[in-house]
Amino acid sequence: MNYQAILLFGAPGSGKGTQGQMVGRIPGFLHISTGDLFRSLDKDSETGRIFAQYANKGLLVPDDVTVGLLKSHLEKTVCSGAFDPKKHIVILDGAPRNVNQARLLKEMIDVRKIIYLKAANVDRMVERLKNRALSSGRVDDADEQVIRHRMTVYANETAPVLACYDKDLICCIEADQSIIRVFSEVVNALVPVKEALEQQS
Ligand code: AMP
Repeated sequence: MNYQAILLFGAPGSGKGTQGQMVGRIPGFLHISTGDLFRSLDKDSETGRIFAQYANKGLLVPDDVTVGLLKSHLEKTVCSGAFDPKKHIVILDGAPRNVNQARLLKEMIDVRKIIYLKAANVDRMVERLKNRALSSGRVDDADEQVIRHRMTVYANETAPVLACYDKDLICCIEADQSIIRVFSEVVNALVPVKEALEQQS
């Protein structure tokens, strides 16, 4: 199966989840966050335990586990009729998170645009994540050491993913703007992609 996809790219705390949820409410778009998929697992399941083992230290879950979970979730969504790959677009939030995942996903997704939420101020993102921990109960957001480690993982493993794609696909948006302004820029970038797909189908 080949899925038409938009990648939501950016450091932890840059606003990918917020923007992804809003775009996911637009008809024809399906928001999938790999972090949310992991958190929705039964904590006592094998994958749930693997997730906790890595996420609690601010590390990436192994690639085979991550890509396997994403693939089976997409297949279930198609089987349930909630998602039609011929008409709909997946907003992928949080994957690929390293160069190997980009390679593994190449067979599965056709990347139409990469929304790169660029945030210059790391301390501000750390504060954002610490505040989110109070409301979400996320263990990996509660500990500043773990958050800082996630930022390092992002810089070392995730940032190089951008170089795997044609630079014309990348739309860089300043993440330190109001949520609604970022959203308007995200929507502007998505309109041509959606219209082109509508003409094809
Ligand atoms: P997030 O909600 O996107 O911040 O993800 C929370 C945690 O889930 C990460 O710190 C990783 O441990 C794990 N995770 C989410 N997406 C991925 C991915 N694509 N590859 C590996 N681990 C991931």
